[in-house]
Amino acid sequence: MSLFKKVSTSSPHPIENISIQRLVPKCKEWKIDTLYVTTSKKCNYCGSYNDKVYSLYGWNKKYPKIPDLLLKQKCSECGVSISASIYQPGINTPIKRK
Ligand SMILES: [Zn+2]
Repeated sequence: MSLFKKVSTSSPHPIENISIQRLVPKCKEWKIDTLYVTTSKKCNYCGSYNDKVYSLYGWNKKYPKIPDLLLKQKCSECGVSISASIYQPGINTPIKRK
């Protein structure tokens, strides 16, 4: 009997966000997991994640791994939908904020 029989293939944090779910096949095809995320600018909770780039699976070490709250469909505080698009380094550039 093998102790290693149960190999979990499911993600520990399921992606509930449809906007991100749609990008998953492309991420795998293009081998790119960097996502440009937009949330509510006004919200104290999700606003700090607005206009930022995250790594969905941790493939790209230049960017932080996406926080669990961005995998939700909406912000639990303000109810604004969280949206994402694939960020291709060197091809599209996010708005720089200083
Ligand atoms: Zn919010």
